Amino acid sequence: MGELTQVRRLVTSVPGPRSVELMARRQRAVSGSLGHVLPVFAAAASGGVLVDVDGNSFIDFASGIAVTSVGGSDPAVVAGVSAQAAAFTHTCFLVTPYEGYVEVCERLNELTPGDHEKRSILVNSGAEAVENAVKIARAWTRRPAVVVFDHAYHGRTNLTMAMTAKSMPYKSGFGPFAGEVYRAPMSYPFRDGLSGPEAARRAIDLIEAQVGAANVACVVLEPIQGEGGFVVPAPGFLPEIAAWCRASGAVFVADEVQTGFCRTGDWFACAAEGVVPDLVITAKGIAGGLPLGAVTGRAELMDAVHAGGLGGTFSGNPVACAAALGAIATMSTLDLCAAARRIGDTMLPRLGKLRERVPAIGDVRGRGAMVAIELVRPGTVEPDADLARRVSQACHAEGLLTLTAGTYGNVLRFLPHSSHRPTCWPKAWTCSKVR
Ligand SMILES: *Cc1c(COP(=O)(O)O)cnc(C)c1O
Repeated sequence: MGELTQVRRLVTSVPGPRSVELMARRQRAVSGSLGHVLPVFAAAASGGVLVDVDGNSFIDFASGIAVTSVGGSDPAVVAGVSAQAAAFTHTCFLVTPYEGYVEVCERLNELTPGDHEKRSILVNSGAEAVENAVKIARAWTRRPAVVVFDHAYHGRTNLTMAMTAKSMPYKSGFGPFAGEVYRAPMSYPFRDGLSGPEAARRAIDLIEAQVGAANVACVVLEPIQGEGGFVVPAPGFLPEIAAWCRASGAVFVADEVQTGFCRTGDWFACAAEGVVPDLVITAKGIAGGLPLGAVTGRAELMDAVHAGGLGGTFSGNPVACAAALGAIATMSTLDLCAAARRIGDTMLPRLGKLRERVPAIGDVRGRGAMVAIELVRPGTVEPDADLARRVSQACHAEGLLTLTAGTYGNVLRFLPHSSHRPTCWPKAWTCSKVR
């Protein structure tokens, strides 16, 4: 397809007639259980734009939910995928291993925080990676309890639903859930006003009183929460929780599925505070859009599971591995960590200025190319989900694809492609349509 012109251009209504037609077909063939942020059908994507079947070109501030950080169809990803697909598409790593799998694990072991001896496994998704991290932590500690946080999102499988905080739409009606999952309060500076160490103390007190330190297999934490609303914990929260884990013999697991791979301006968000997790969970941005997840961690933990204890038929598929190697090469050669920092340096001050003028913007936060605004009723911290929905729709109508997030649905989140330069800001950013 080649590089598309990086423009925001609407040539029909949104959705256009071809998308409307396809949507009718979709309704007849596909389950109603799947929602869509923007009901236009994709025809092509490259760099930071997505073109629909009616020829509308959207600036993509969703990146398929923090996946295509390297752009819509990164040349290195495309080349790797094409060559690997032509060579072989599958053997199952448990049947016959292949070099690409090993090489992705080598990259993960190098790039994740800490210079200790590491090992990795590859899986198919973020949720599957979370499940495996819990299995490894339980096998290593021989303890049952999993501690997670308010506003957390860890996936949609049975165990990860239990770990995810938000009922609607992720959990409602799908119980009973897996046991031995305990929820602690998260550091949420906009809403709790606590310092990082204070918020950590509050969480640790609850864990010690309600779970018991000796029962905790692992504490699983997103360094910046994703679905929960891009909640950036106050400085000191992460290091204190990690230190408590070390002192208590619990495994500290960083769920970097959304924050990893240059999204926040570092290879991994934990690095910003020098935190070295025992296990790091990755997926989303790892492979430029192909399904891949991973668990990377201390060799002694990763090797504590008996041979044959982990794995799966498709896990670490060779085509997905080739995509990951292409994506990681692009992140290095284009220095997408620096690019993500530039995006944050552009967006955060602009949104900060907007906040001074628009009282409905309660908070502007994020890091690198992971930026959000939290919308509230002016003068309060009362969530305004309806406004978030309307602003997001106004953006869509102007050709900017945005997402909402948050436990209360009142957070507008921006996940631009790190390779994308924000040159044409839509008019919706001035809020002309919503006030
Ligand atoms: C998306 C996400 C997951 C789940 O990943 P899937 O690939 O959708 O299963 C887990 N944790 C975090 C932090 C995520 O953002």
